Amino acid sequence: MTSPLLPTYARAELSFEKGEGPWLYGRDGERYLDFGAGIAVNALGHAHPHLVQALTEQATKVWHTSNLFQIPEGERLAKRLVENTFADVVFFSNSGAEANEAAIKMARKYHAAKGHPERFRIVTFEGAFHGRTLATIAAGGQAKYLEGFGPKVEGFDQVPVDDLKALKAVIGPETAALMIEPIQGEGGVRTVSNAFMRELRSLCDEHGLLLIFDEIQTGVGRTGKLFAYESTGVTPDIMSVAKGIGGGFPMGACLATADAAKGMTVGTHGTTFGGNPLAMAVGNAVLDVILAPGFLKEVERKGLLLKQRLAELKDRHPSVIADVRGQGLMMGLRTVVPNTEFVTAARAEKLLLIGAGDNVVRLLPPLIVGDADISDAVNRIDAACLAIEAEQKAHAQQGAVQ
Ligand SMILES: *Cc1c(COP(=O)(O)O)cnc(C)c1O
Repeated sequence: MTSPLLPTYARAELSFEKGEGPWLYGRDGERYLDFGAGIAVNALGHAHPHLVQALTEQATKVWHTSNLFQIPEGERLAKRLVENTFADVVFFSNSGAEANEAAIKMARKYHAAKGHPERFRIVTFEGAFHGRTLATIAAGGQAKYLEGFGPKVEGFDQVPVDDLKALKAVIGPETAALMIEPIQGEGGVRTVSNAFMRELRSLCDEHGLLLIFDEIQTGVGRTGKLFAYESTGVTPDIMSVAKGIGGGFPMGACLATADAAKGMTVGTHGTTFGGNPLAMAVGNAVLDVILAPGFLKEVERKGLLLKQRLAELKDRHPSVIADVRGQGLMMGLRTVVPNTEFVTAARAEKLLLIGAGDNVVRLLPPLIVGDADISDAVNRIDAACLAIEAEQKAHAQQGAVQ
């Protein structure tokens, strides 16, 4: 069967008709434990009653008015984000890439408004992922995403994470900002050390640069903090957010200090859909749950439990799992076998996981996941490892016979 969809995705032969909490019900009649959460998006799982209510209630009132008018739900969500972060102002977008576009434009405009339009270059880090627009593929710097799309957007310099010498060498009179994910998501759940984060902050302060954190994947409770920067001891000037913030409703946000945002005056940036009442109603509902007393502490506790159980699996299956990494409910397993094979083996056990760079498999369960669900997932991974080992053994025997 040929699909009329542009074939830019190698989709699994699987679709779902409904979801509930961490469970997805496939059209194949099977029930799947969802430890991918739509790539860290369904922060509160599927069909969370509070989100369903917020969305349906707003849907009966008003869907869209445009940013030519006041949007009280958006004012409220921005106020709550500001109250709970370093930021003073918020711009709402529809996606992560657009949140990063806003961040990039803001950093450039900051210097232009200060009389330094020549300061437009942004330093990014190897293994980064910042989105698929023309500017964000240039920021991410991955050849496979850049190839064939014409000249790379000018103004991005890339250095390896933790390479202070290379970083210092690349900062010049045209540099405007440094941009980094506190934990690389697509790159393979790779945590940037707090020591390196502190170096970034002090380099920014020393050279008058802005520090941009891409918290599109790490934000909104994923790591056990509302935002991952809170556990780094370092505060950015600009931060992009998306994925979990809408709990499955498409939305993003660019947060900034008043100083970093001072170039962004009337008319300098815009969006038709960003911050519309439907998105804002859901965003507020997501925060109602995540900011409730004790919720993030629970994420932290469950993250530690999951990590501990995964470490046991690694010890049990050294020919399958090489490394356990991550923070909170953003976990990665670097696998010995190809990570795609591991994801497929887990899916055979009705557990949904997601691949990443560095031959890593990501576990990104909804933050509402229960201890029993974690045990369930661990048992399914155990079974998947056993199946892979059985195959390894069969292969070895075949080799011995030949
Ligand atoms: C997913 C992601 C993006 C891109 O978000 P989209 O909504 O797909 O545009 C950017 N940065 C990071 C860190 C991400 O995980």
